[in-house]
Amino acid sequence: MTAKITSGNTVPNAPVRAHIGLGGNMGERQANLETAIAKLDATDGIAVVKTSTFIGTEPWGKTDQDWFLNAAIALDTTLSARQLLETCLAIETSMGRVRTEKWGPRIIDLDILTYGDAVIDEDGLQVPHPYIPERPFVLEPLAEIAPDLKVDGRKISDLLNG
Ligand code: AMP
Repeated sequence: MTAKITSGNTVPNAPVRAHIGLGGNMGERQANLETAIAKLDATDGIAVVKTSTFIGTEPWGKTDQDWFLNAAIALDTTLSARQLLETCLAIETSMGRVRTEKWGPRIIDLDILTYGDAVIDEDGLQVPHPYIPERPFVLEPLAEIAPDLKVDGRKISDLLNG
Protein backbone atom coordinates (compact mmCIF):
# COMPACT_ATOMS: atom_id res chain seq x y z
CA MET A 1 0.00 0.00 0.00
CA THR A 2 1.26 3.47 -0.78
CA ALA A 3 1.24 6.07 1.98
CA LYS A 4 -1.54 8.64 1.98
CA ILE A 5 -0.46 11.95 0.46
CA THR A 6 -0.38 14.73 3.06
CA SER A 7 1.76 17.29 1.23
CA GLY A 8 0.75 19.45 -1.71
CA ASN A 9 4.26 19.04 -3.09
CA THR A 10 4.22 15.26 -3.41
CA VAL A 11 4.57 14.30 -7.06
CA PRO A 12 2.75 10.98 -7.51
CA ASN A 13 4.47 7.97 -9.06
CA ALA A 14 1.21 6.93 -10.76
CA PRO A 15 -1.73 9.04 -12.00
CA VAL A 16 -4.03 10.26 -9.25
CA ARG A 17 -7.80 10.59 -9.72
CA ALA A 18 -8.81 14.10 -8.68
CA HIS A 19 -12.11 15.97 -8.77
CA ILE A 20 -12.53 19.64 -9.59
CA GLY A 21 -15.57 21.80 -8.91
CA LEU A 22 -16.27 24.53 -11.46
CA GLY A 23 -18.62 27.49 -11.32
CA GLY A 24 -19.24 30.91 -12.79
CA ASN A 25 -21.98 33.52 -13.05
CA MET A 26 -20.65 36.10 -15.50
CA GLY A 27 -20.71 36.22 -19.30
CA GLU A 28 -21.27 33.08 -21.34
CA ARG A 29 -21.43 30.72 -18.40
CA GLN A 30 -21.68 27.47 -20.36
CA ALA A 31 -18.90 28.44 -22.78
CA ASN A 32 -16.72 29.50 -19.85
CA LEU A 33 -17.10 26.14 -18.12
CA GLU A 34 -16.35 24.35 -21.40
CA THR A 35 -13.27 26.51 -21.98
CA ALA A 36 -11.92 25.83 -18.49
CA ILE A 37 -12.43 22.08 -18.88
CA ALA A 38 -10.71 22.14 -22.29
CA LYS A 39 -7.78 24.10 -20.83
CA LEU A 40 -7.39 21.58 -18.00
CA ASP A 41 -7.51 18.69 -20.46
CA ALA A 42 -4.92 20.39 -22.69
CA THR A 43 -2.47 20.67 -19.77
CA ASP A 44 0.48 18.24 -19.73
CA GLY A 45 -0.08 15.72 -16.96
CA ILE A 46 -3.88 16.11 -16.88
CA ALA A 47 -6.51 13.98 -18.61
CA VAL A 48 -10.17 14.84 -17.99
CA VAL A 49 -12.11 11.57 -17.69
CA LYS A 50 -15.65 12.56 -16.66
CA THR A 51 -17.76 15.71 -16.82
CA SER A 52 -21.03 16.21 -14.96
CA THR A 53 -24.13 17.94 -16.21
CA PHE A 54 -23.97 21.72 -15.88
CA ILE A 55 -26.47 22.80 -13.23
CA GLY A 56 -27.89 26.26 -12.54
CA THR A 57 -27.66 27.22 -8.86
CA GLU A 58 -28.64 30.12 -6.64
CA PRO A 59 -25.78 32.35 -5.49
CA TRP A 60 -24.32 31.39 -2.13
CA GLY A 61 -23.10 33.75 0.57
CA LYS A 62 -23.81 36.91 -1.37
CA THR A 63 -27.27 36.54 -2.87
CA ASP A 64 -27.76 39.75 -4.90
CA GLN A 65 -26.01 38.48 -8.01
CA ASP A 66 -26.78 36.30 -11.04
CA TRP A 67 -27.33 32.57 -10.76
CA PHE A 68 -24.31 30.33 -11.20
CA LEU A 69 -23.69 27.46 -13.56
CA ASN A 70 -21.81 24.68 -11.74
CA ALA A 71 -20.19 21.42 -12.75
CA ALA A 72 -17.72 18.84 -11.51
CA ILE A 73 -15.12 16.87 -13.41
CA ALA A 74 -12.95 13.87 -12.68
CA LEU A 75 -9.41 13.92 -14.00
CA ASP A 76 -6.32 11.77 -13.82
CA THR A 77 -3.14 13.66 -13.12
CA THR A 78 0.55 13.15 -12.61
CA LEU A 79 0.87 16.68 -11.19
CA SER A 80 1.24 17.30 -7.47
CA ALA A 81 -1.80 18.82 -5.74
CA ARG A 82 0.06 22.15 -5.56
CA GLN A 83 0.84 22.04 -9.28
CA LEU A 84 -2.81 21.23 -9.96
CA LEU A 85 -3.88 24.22 -7.84
CA GLU A 86 -1.44 26.49 -9.68
CA THR A 87 -2.82 25.21 -12.99
CA CYS A 88 -6.38 26.00 -11.85
CA LEU A 89 -5.43 29.50 -10.67
CA ALA A 90 -3.54 30.18 -13.93
CA ILE A 91 -6.59 29.11 -15.98
CA GLU A 92 -8.84 31.39 -13.89
CA THR A 93 -6.47 34.30 -14.50
CA SER A 94 -6.09 33.53 -18.23
CA MET A 95 -9.88 33.66 -18.52
CA GLY A 96 -9.98 37.14 -17.04
CA ARG A 97 -10.90 36.37 -13.44
CA VAL A 98 -10.26 39.31 -11.17
CA ARG A 99 -10.58 38.70 -7.43
CA THR A 100 -12.62 41.46 -5.87
CA GLU A 101 -15.13 40.72 -3.15
CA LYS A 102 -15.44 37.38 -1.35
CA TRP A 103 -18.24 35.28 -2.82
CA GLY A 104 -18.82 37.97 -5.48
CA PRO A 105 -19.52 37.45 -9.20
CA ARG A 106 -16.89 35.49 -11.12
CA ILE A 107 -16.22 34.35 -14.67
CA ILE A 108 -14.80 31.07 -13.48
CA ASP A 109 -13.93 29.41 -10.20
CA LEU A 110 -11.97 26.16 -10.07
CA ASP A 111 -11.68 24.28 -6.78
CA ILE A 112 -9.79 21.08 -6.09
CA LEU A 113 -12.41 18.98 -4.34
CA THR A 114 -10.38 15.81 -3.89
CA TYR A 115 -6.95 14.58 -4.90
CA GLY A 116 -6.91 10.80 -4.58
CA ASP A 117 -7.43 10.12 -0.89
CA ALA A 118 -4.97 12.85 0.08
CA VAL A 119 -5.60 14.96 3.16
CA ILE A 120 -3.70 18.24 2.83
CA ASP A 121 -3.92 21.23 5.14
CA GLU A 122 -1.41 23.86 4.09
CA ASP A 123 -1.27 27.55 3.50
CA GLY A 124 -3.53 28.13 0.50
CA LEU A 125 -4.33 24.47 -0.11
CA GLN A 126 -6.87 22.36 1.74
CA VAL A 127 -7.87 18.99 0.34
CA PRO A 128 -10.55 17.64 0.45
CA HIS A 129 -12.06 21.06 -0.13
CA PRO A 130 -13.65 22.01 3.22
CA TYR A 131 -16.90 23.21 1.70
CA ILE A 132 -17.86 19.93 0.00
CA PRO A 133 -20.28 18.58 2.64
CA GLU A 134 -22.25 21.78 3.08
CA ARG A 135 -22.68 22.95 -0.50
CA PRO A 136 -25.35 21.34 -2.67
CA PHE A 137 -23.92 23.00 -5.78
CA VAL A 138 -20.69 21.06 -5.19
CA LEU A 139 -22.28 17.81 -3.98
CA GLU A 140 -24.88 17.49 -6.73
CA PRO A 141 -22.58 17.43 -9.77
CA LEU A 142 -19.95 15.47 -7.83
CA ALA A 143 -22.50 12.81 -6.83
CA GLU A 144 -23.44 12.47 -10.49
CA ILE A 145 -19.91 11.51 -11.60
CA ALA A 146 -18.59 9.90 -8.39
CA PRO A 147 -21.44 8.75 -6.10
CA ASP A 148 -19.20 6.26 -4.26
CA LEU A 149 -16.37 8.71 -3.65
CA LYS A 150 -15.73 9.16 0.06
CA VAL A 151 -14.95 12.45 1.78
CA ASP A 152 -14.19 12.39 5.49
CA GLY A 153 -15.33 8.76 5.52
CA ARG A 154 -18.76 9.51 4.02
CA LYS A 155 -20.00 8.73 0.54
CA ILE A 156 -20.85 11.72 -1.65
CA SER A 157 -24.29 10.28 -2.40
CA ASP A 158 -24.99 10.00 1.36
CA LEU A 159 -23.75 13.53 1.98
CA LEU A 160 -26.11 14.78 -0.72
CA ASN A 161 -29.09 12.91 0.69
CA GLY A 162 -28.27 13.63 4.32
P1 AMP B 1 -11.73 31.06 -4.26
O1 AMP B 1 -11.33 31.33 -5.66
O2 AMP B 1 -12.52 32.14 -3.63
O3 AMP B 1 -12.39 29.69 -4.18
O4 AMP B 1 -10.39 30.95 -3.40
C1 AMP B 1 -9.22 30.54 -4.03
C2 AMP B 1 -8.13 30.39 -3.01
O5 AMP B 1 -8.44 29.32 -2.14
C3 AMP B 1 -6.83 30.05 -3.72
O6 AMP B 1 -5.97 31.14 -3.72
C4 AMP B 1 -6.28 28.87 -2.97
O7 AMP B 1 -5.00 29.14 -2.43
C5 AMP B 1 -7.26 28.61 -1.85
N1 AMP B 1 -7.56 27.18 -1.73
C6 AMP B 1 -7.41 26.42 -0.64
N2 AMP B 1 -7.74 25.15 -0.86
C7 AMP B 1 -8.15 25.08 -2.17
C8 AMP B 1 -8.62 24.03 -3.00
N3 AMP B 1 -8.77 22.77 -2.53
N4 AMP B 1 -8.94 24.32 -4.28
C9 AMP B 1 -8.82 25.59 -4.74
N5 AMP B 1 -8.38 26.64 -4.01
C10 AMP B 1 -8.04 26.39 -2.73
